[in-house]
Amino acid sequence: MTQQTPKVAIIGAGIGGLATAIRLVAKGFVVDVFEKESQPGGKLMEIRKDGFRFDLGPSLFTQPERVEELFTLMGERTSDHFRYRRLTNICRYFWPDGTRLNADADPDEFAYEVRRVLHIEPHKTSQYLNQAQRLYDLAAPLLLNRPFPTVEALMSPAGQKIGRNPWILDPFVTLHHRNQKTFTDPRLVQLFDRYATCNGSDPYKAPATLKMIAHLEHNLGAFFPDNGMYSIVRELTNLALRHGVRFHFGTPVERINRYSASGAVTGIRIGAKDLKFDAVVSDVDIHTLYNRGMVDMAKPLLGRNQALSTSALIFYWGVAGSYPELDLYNILFSSDYREEFKCLFRKKTLPDDPTVYIFISSRVVPGDAMPGHENWFVMINTPENTGQDWDTLIRKSRHTILDKIQNLTRNNIRQQIVFEHIEDPRSIEVRTGSYNGALYGNSSNSRMSAFIRHPNQRRAAPGLWFTGGSVHPGGGIPFCLASAKIVADNLEDQKTERPRDRQTMRR
Ligand SMILES: Cc1cc2nc3c(=O)[nH]c(=O)nc-3n(C[C@H](O)[C@H](O)[C@H](O)COP(=O)(O)OP(=O)(O)OC[C@H]3O[C@@H](n4cnc5c(N)ncnc54)[C@H](O)[C@@H]3O)c2cc1C
Repeated sequence: MTQQTPKVAIIGAGIGGLATAIRLVAKGFVVDVFEKESQPGGKLMEIRKDGFRFDLGPSLFTQPERVEELFTLMGERTSDHFRYRRLTNICRYFWPDGTRLNADADPDEFAYEVRRVLHIEPHKTSQYLNQAQRLYDLAAPLLLNRPFPTVEALMSPAGQKIGRNPWILDPFVTLHHRNQKTFTDPRLVQLFDRYATCNGSDPYKAPATLKMIAHLEHNLGAFFPDNGMYSIVRELTNLALRHGVRFHFGTPVERINRYSASGAVTGIRIGAKDLKFDAVVSDVDIHTLYNRGMVDMAKPLLGRNQALSTSALIFYWGVAGSYPELDLYNILFSSDYREEFKCLFRKKTLPDDPTVYIFISSRVVPGDAMPGHENWFVMINTPENTGQDWDTLIRKSRHTILDKIQNLTRNNIRQQIVFEHIEDPRSIEVRTGSYNGALYGNSSNSRMSAFIRHPNQRRAAPGLWFTGGSVHPGGGIPFCLASAKIVADNLEDQKTERPRDRQTMRR
């Protein structure tokens, strides 16, 4: 790197790119963010139309301290700019047999509710959540907060502990297997299986390690920003701007330039211009980056054959009336979960009876809907886009979903829909640059998934870094924020010639 203030280009203003920009500017770098769209956010986006506001992507907000950390880092008080609340309910569940369960955010209350509705002794549920917590506490220092896999990580106290006894991470059985062994009621098994979908995976294939996701929601808590999910992006962008990050919207980066001999990064190409930078951080989906020729190197061998994560079909409906049987978050389960995942990952089509997720932000942010209306975000998981006849599938699914809502919640909303916007794997792919519309890059459908996720740096390309949901440690807002921290800390180490994990990067 040069001796002047080092210049870093960040490609993509998704949550990972934004957080990396803030962390790097805090460390004294000159930071330019290049975003192909006209506004920041990527998957974490919003639309405002006809009196409604919808968050287009994420709706669940966990580990808000990872956002707070960014304000603190810049010497600002989070509450001056960004406010959020802890939710008292995590989710309302509906099963086809008419069972309804309200998941209270208090783990003890939740365990008692499980007993009341499903007749499972509370200590069983509490034990499961405690195990999920222990697993997270063991895994986080190794798998979430540092580059991985590296020799240094594996030799660290956390790495050695897990190396001596890998069973503590429960990677050798599937999440479904573990849940089925733990609970006798298939509805509770399904409830905990669904956490595999939080990173686009299949509970019948993903390791039981993923039960730590249940810990994030049930033990650490579910939160919601007072002004909706997009306020995370808006306020982080403002924070970055206040501290000198330069944004270039509507500016797609075509290529990352490198020296042919050493492979070291020299900058980026935009249109016919080559711009010089000391380092480049890519927040672009990793498969798009390689497959669309944005970088002239081959994908790492490990992880090449891992299935992509799921995508989504989402109806954003402005609905007249109010529906007290629904909460902020609601899940209407399918009758055959195994078949649903077979459709998503093997048959690459939509199931006849999908699990339906309904998120109504106007419950918390009244301005998100016109008076007397609600804003329904109605989502089903879909396979990645491999050229399916989406228009036909969407027409069919719309009927199926409306029937399911009527059957399980007793609400016929067909005539109450006054606004509709639809996103499907094709539009998600175009808007966010996610390969085949997959929401989280690779799925975690193998016990080796943590080991074969794309690393945050490759030895073959000094000066090139990777952040965001398609690389280590994984998808979802908290993990994207974790990837930003890993990248910024290690990039700084290299600037100051204090190699930490750099020399041990294996790929
Ligand atoms: C429908 C949906 C629901 C979700 N639900 C949740 C949830 O409830 N909770 C949760 O935590 N997570 C959820 N997620 C996942 C979460 O949104 C993502 O993991 C996270 O937002 C990804 O951030 P990222 O940093 O990887 O960047 P992305 O959001 O993928 O953004 C990448 C950015 O790069 C830009 N870009 C791409 N190519 C170029 C180029 N050549 N030049 C310049 N810019 C480029 C894109 O335009 C985009 O802005 C959901 C995602 C979706 C889509």
